[in-house]
Amino acid sequence: MPARRDHRRAIPGVDRLLARPWCRRLAESRGREWVTSRLRAVLDDVRAGRVALPASEEGYEDLLRRGIAAAETPSLQPAVNATGVILHTNLGRAPLAAEAREAMARASGYGNLEFDLETGGRGSRYVHCTELVRELTGAEAALVVNNCAGAVALALTAFASGRGVAVSHGELVEIGGGFRIPEVVEAAGARLVTVGTTNRTRLADYARAVEAGEVGAILKVHRSNFSMSGFTEDAGLDELVALGAGAGVPVIHDLGSGLLADSAELGLPKEPTPAMSVAAGADLVAFSGDKLLGGPQAGILAGTRSGVAGAKAHPLCRALRCDKVTLAGLEATLALYRDPRRAMERIPVLRMIKAPVEELEGRARAVVERVAEMRVARGEAPLAADVSRGRSVVGGGTFPDARLPTAVIEIDAGDAAERWMAALRAHDPPVIARSRKGRVILDLRTIAVEEEGAVLSALASVGGTGGGAG
Ligand SMILES: *Cc1c(COP(=O)(O)O)cnc(C)c1O
Repeated sequence: MPARRDHRRAIPGVDRLLARPWCRRLAESRGREWVTSRLRAVLDDVRAGRVALPASEEGYEDLLRRGIAAAETPSLQPAVNATGVILHTNLGRAPLAAEAREAMARASGYGNLEFDLETGGRGSRYVHCTELVRELTGAEAALVVNNCAGAVALALTAFASGRGVAVSHGELVEIGGGFRIPEVVEAAGARLVTVGTTNRTRLADYARAVEAGEVGAILKVHRSNFSMSGFTEDAGLDELVALGAGAGVPVIHDLGSGLLADSAELGLPKEPTPAMSVAAGADLVAFSGDKLLGGPQAGILAGTRSGVAGAKAHPLCRALRCDKVTLAGLEATLALYRDPRRAMERIPVLRMIKAPVEELEGRARAVVERVAEMRVARGEAPLAADVSRGRSVVGGGTFPDARLPTAVIEIDAGDAAERWMAALRAHDPPVIARSRKGRVILDLRTIAVEEEGAVLSALASVGGTGGGAG
């Protein structure tokens, strides 16, 4: 006990430390109140024994500086995606094209978001991007909201609130992040009218529900994140459109991923596109801005004039509107699709899907060689690193069965794999890898050429004095 009292007596007071020149300078640059509160937190930690009692005043300075640095690190940080999952939802889905990034920076100030530059009068934010969506999908009209989940919820609320929504049993899907079709229908104030069975749903099943008269909308949902095979049957979207048109019931297609590029050219299985849904006559098709489209988070509704007008007129539309920065990024991304070849080159998601394995292998070998040189130069132990073949996935709940042959850097880390992964995450910028059976795996497919420097410096220091993993 006496020892503990001595320990506390040795801790300087806030005022004494605040009067020191180093502390005064910190207070001047960051605000006195905030620095005082950080300093109090440091002293609390010392008193409670959460950190060792500093031997000198410099020790307090060091603790305060570290506390300030930790507090000043932005919560949202850029990271290198070395996982090989292209649309990695936890890492922010689609990395944006340079054109989109520039447009977003330009749009950050004042702009003509809801201002008509010709008349000087009030404009509408809903005009932005619509011309491009119409061009690229062939739709009569379009509306951009916050995300695809919001687009589907808005369409259902506008057209089926207080009524039934006919959905195939085989399409009552969960997308992830809490998006489950039955719950979305319920949240839209509509009643779920399930038709058909899990594996087989025919047009006649929908027709019975429509004839019963309580259906306000027919919803078709793309099975984007799983596949069904065997004894299966589905009603085609065009058949549903004909049924709906005859009964005055709108057809909404929840497509999820908004692939605007040619899946064959990407080497991927055939995937329905927004243009196909529009051509089939869907009143509204909903798709994401940040899945295969490769843009910022957004939800796009494309369809008939009356379909889009109905969605736009609903008060929920206001709650789901997206901001100017998103619209600018989406517009710049969509504009790249006017020239399909340019889109393939400029949109990172498409470029990554298309990258040939030979090219990735060459890059992987160059990284491994360069890391070896850097480690030798620094006096670090060499890495037990190899280049081998692996498989990347598209991710983001799309192309669940597609595997893209890729080249990976594999590091034999023995039982230190988890520590290695942690050291890579602690690097600035963080490098997010995978591990399997004591091997740390970095997939070149999702690492941009501009990010190779960061991967190099992370691998050059990890496991040694710099990385703290060995
Ligand atoms: C991904 C997906 C959604 C949700 O899209 P968000 O843009 O993430 O809201 C909805 N429906 C389907 C079929 C999807 O694949």
